[in-house]
Amino acid sequence: MEEFDLLVIGGGAAGMAASLAAARRGQRVLLAEREARLGGILNQCLHSGFGGGLTGPAYARQLIDRVNASAVCVRTGTDVLRIFPDRTALLSSRTGLERVEFQKCILASGCRERSVWSLPVAGSRPAGVFTAGTAQKLMNLGGYDIGDGVVIMGSGDVGQIMARQLAQAGKRVVAIIEQRDQLGGLPRNRRDCVEAYRIPVLLQCTVDEILGAGRIRGVMVRHLPTGRRWELPCGTLLTALGLIPDRALCRELLEDGALPEWLRLCGNCDYVHDMVDSVVREAAQTAF
Ligand SMILES: Cc1cc2nc3c(=O)[nH]c(=O)nc-3n(C[C@H](O)[C@H](O)[C@H](O)COP(=O)(O)OP(=O)(O)OC[C@H]3O[C@@H](n4cnc5c(N)ncnc54)[C@H](O)[C@@H]3O)c2cc1C
Repeated sequence: MEEFDLLVIGGGAAGMAASLAAARRGQRVLLAEREARLGGILNQCLHSGFGGGLTGPAYARQLIDRVNASAVCVRTGTDVLRIFPDRTALLSSRTGLERVEFQKCILASGCRERSVWSLPVAGSRPAGVFTAGTAQKLMNLGGYDIGDGVVIMGSGDVGQIMARQLAQAGKRVVAIIEQRDQLGGLPRNRRDCVEAYRIPVLLQCTVDEILGAGRIRGVMVRHLPTGRRWELPCGTLLTALGLIPDRALCRELLEDGALPEWLRLCGNCDYVHDMVDSVVREAAQTAF
């Protein structure tokens, strides 16, 4: 069985920064990433808001170049399926299953998105309903068209950035629907994404029914203070309902509710970060 001082799971900004810091201290590091390339969500973020004006892929490129020039052992296309209490992990890749041994482990597996189906929303499950992250991936990495006449549910940074991208692509953003009485997200996104593109906003509202069979044709909007409902026709629904740290891999390792001393979390797997610079800074400090 191959042995490493440190196993880092997830090759986004956090995993790359943690790996680099540990390798600088002379540790033998294995960085495992399930996707075909390093970068994580940076790869799908084409707007220039990273590290003072770079796009996500450009920011990722800087880190990837440093990782490639370092002694970090990188395995892309490699999914870590399980971490065991005896400090081994089961890896899955095109070449099959492999078990590796390690002294320490950093989980940098990022977040998953909350889906609309986790809410009490009526209706069938027609085509044309996407989480914002999936839509971003389809458009920015796959070059697909996700449809027109888009309703966006959720007004955090992700929802606002998607509204701007769709408007820039010539799509009609029907509305951003937000249950609170004000928009979420960073002030700069409110200004540059929503106000600049005059995106209609429905505050104190939610979607409580998805209309359409086969393909979505609209949503039922509910005004929360009054309970008034009305139909809003649309061709696509994007949900930007929040990110949840993905810590599924450490579920079985908790000792009295705490992580074992050899396992640490970093990046969005620890908590959701708005800015990538803080991910990189903290991840470098998290490295053993
Ligand atoms: C839409 C959006 C816009 C943003 N805009 C900005 C911005 O303008 N400016 C800014 O500074 N920040 C921005 N951010 C924040 C910043 O991009 C993120 O906080 C940061 O990139 C998160 O990095 P991470 O490494 O923690 O997670 P991720 O990038 O999600 O990386 C996690 C990686 O772990 C891998 N992985 C997960 N599980 C496993 C497993 N079991 N085995 C192997 N690999 C696994 C995943 O494939 C993924 O590559 C934005 C974030 C989003 C979502």
